[in-house]
Amino acid sequence: MIFVLELTHRGATFGKINDEAERSLRQVFDIPSNYKVLFLQGGGTGQFSAVPLNLCFSSDDVVDYIVTGTWSSKAAKEAEKYCKVNRVLPKTDVFTGIPPQSEWKLSKNAKYVYYCANETIHGVEFDFVPETNGVPLVCDMSSNVLTRPVDISKFGLIFAGAQKNAGIPGVTFIIVRDDLVGHALPICPTVFDYKINADNKSLYNTPPTFSIYVLGLVFKWILSKGGVAEMQSFSAEKSRLVYDVIDSSEGFYHSVIKKHSRSRMNIPFRIGGPSGNDELEKKFLEEAKAQGMINLKGHRSVGGIRISLFNAITLEETKALVELLKSFLQANKV
Ligand code: PMP
Repeated sequence: MIFVLELTHRGATFGKINDEAERSLRQVFDIPSNYKVLFLQGGGTGQFSAVPLNLCFSSDDVVDYIVTGTWSSKAAKEAEKYCKVNRVLPKTDVFTGIPPQSEWKLSKNAKYVYYCANETIHGVEFDFVPETNGVPLVCDMSSNVLTRPVDISKFGLIFAGAQKNAGIPGVTFIIVRDDLVGHALPICPTVFDYKINADNKSLYNTPPTFSIYVLGLVFKWILSKGGVAEMQSFSAEKSRLVYDVIDSSEGFYHSVIKKHSRSRMNIPFRIGGPSGNDELEKKFLEEAKAQGMINLKGHRSVGGIRISLFNAITLEETKALVELLKSFLQANKV
């Protein structure tokens, strides 16, 4: 409701909205009591810095990064400013899936192991939680949070921007185990210090009040739909419909992602062969736009088409897109 825009964040009314959003998140995501929940600004990108600034004790500390796409790559580069980054996988610009854990080179003394659960640009998603043998596991869940149940106790820290599956831009939520809070490096900016924010219920400085309000509404909406287990079957059904068309198109729709790493959230593919046919892709985007389906252009770094199936996308919308994919295939396949 619009009245939220008129509230001071210091008043009791907003305080209740803030508490309610946290309570609903704890309920919907089944968060144990030994984890703090923070609502911060700065986006996922802010957390690329905040994580090493809060979890490392010195710039000599080693941290492990499992780089599987653009976002974990950016996170690793940012962390290099504050500590020693070990890349668990060989460096590459080509991302087509998650290599088996037996090929990872984890270090013995890492402060934490970091990964991105769903690479939004490349469409690479983990279908398992990495085993770190006791080293705190840090996860960027920005683009698949609240789309399946998660055993939070396996993680030291999870962060996610609201804007994909949980609301509107402006707020990032952080779920962090108690023992990892309170050791920020002296250079850590106050706005990113987990302890200062935890002690102040994320109200140390002016929060993005409306974004937090919407976050609370979306958590309740997910609960009302049957919770994250229901979101899991819903996303499985939607993505299966799209992958079925890709797989039965005999290469007309071409995806490079290995099947076990295929994202349920973001499906990038080329039209007309592995490198894509510019004319066909342009034509597809125009036809989609004429039917009210926008933002289907792939990220410039991978090109082609990208279908995003976040929680807010309905089954009906997905089916309409699948119909378009089928009719476009029939009309244009030579
Ligand atoms: N991580 C992932 C997986 C993302 O998809 C994005 C943005 N799309 C980010 C991090 C960066 O988030 P922000 O733009 O909010 O900084």
